[in-house]
Amino acid sequence: MEHKIVFTDKVYLESLEDYEYENVKSVVFPIFDKVLCDNGWDKGFFDGKKVAVKPNLLHKTGVEKCVTTHPSYTRAACEYFTSLGASVVVCDSPGGLYNKALVEGVAKETGTLEAARLGGGVFNDDYGFEMISNHEYSKYSFNIINPLIEADVIVNLARLKTHALCEMTAAVKNMFGSIPGLQKAEQHARFPSKDSFASMICDVCLINSPQINLVDCVVCMEGNGPSGGTLRKMGAVAVSANPFAVDLLCSHMMGYGTDEVGTIRNAVSRGLCPDSVEKLEVIGEDYKKFVCKFKRPDSTAGGLAKQIPSVFGGRLRDALERKPVINKKKCVGCGICKNNCPVDAITIENKKAKIDKTKCIKCYCCQEFCPKLAVAAKNILGI
Ligand code: SF4
Ligand code: SF4
Repeated sequence: MEHKIVFTDKVYLESLEDYEYENVKSVVFPIFDKVLCDNGWDKGFFDGKKVAVKPNLLHKTGVEKCVTTHPSYTRAACEYFTSLGASVVVCDSPGGLYNKALVEGVAKETGTLEAARLGGGVFNDDYGFEMISNHEYSKYSFNIINPLIEADVIVNLARLKTHALCEMTAAVKNMFGSIPGLQKAEQHARFPSKDSFASMICDVCLINSPQINLVDCVVCMEGNGPSGGTLRKMGAVAVSANPFAVDLLCSHMMGYGTDEVGTIRNAVSRGLCPDSVEKLEVIGEDYKKFVCKFKRPDSTAGGLAKQIPSVFGGRLRDALERKPVINKKKCVGCGICKNNCPVDAITIENKKAKIDKTKCIKCYCCQEFCPKLAVAAKNILGI
């Protein structure tokens, strides 16, 4: 893990209408050529190198749901870097346990296993991890999965989505998948406030230092992302050597101001990207034509709580703040939410999930992983 991010302001943005492999390849390969130059590499650099391709696999879901990284990108990244003589491993730690059976099951369902094979790469077979520190970037240490630690270069392949806790997920948040399995949930308990969690997400991205960062904006997700929202077509792909710069552009294209997304706020305060989208050097398409206001997650959208003046104190605001609630008609009592709750706030009673509000830290992991979309965000008025 010797690699370092080049904190460039350059972001490449191109139109891309669909996921046909030849179309993806024809757009992405020339951009990869340019990002190689931004990193100071020529193509010969990759001969004999280890490249880790890191898609967003989240959980077991079909390609058509547009929750995970589309396999055409994974295949294209594998083909591009194997053609340069690199050995390419595709890896991620999705939600749930981190073991071969579970992760390969997700990789198969999301089309990633086949994409790795078609592109000439292999899917990760090493389920070890190691505690990594880098005090240049963080005072904390994190367990990171082995294929990312061992890689000479990390290629980060994200999808643009809203996120119930973080507002958005793109390149920076995608690197949270470097933490093995249920240890991700533990980070929510370790960093319970939104700001501390966003800062930790930036730390983890910096420690991994992905040097090629692609955000799929062909079909995005709005509303209750990252898994239960609705699809929104944007028809673009954005790539940069700098994950913080590409996220700044993407947040702007989905209608967020610079200070509305915790990871962007944190990155700006640390000088990892400019403080406004106008200061980015966007190469290719005019980003203004893609800007639109994505529907916000229910957990963070407007709401009465934000309108209560602080002079009335925290109680009223707290009562009117939205919190996760279980829709008992939809809940089937599978217990996935319980297994992913970082603070043991969920029990299953009479085959229905129940949340202990006194324990809940509002991380929305339960909403993210519920396969039945049975977790909503509501206040005491039920709105
Ligand atoms: S994951 Fe969803 S369906 Fe399963 S128990 Fe929790 S709320 Fe119910
Ligand atoms: S109940 Fe849901 S939102 Fe609350 S802490 Fe547990 S997983 Fe997070």
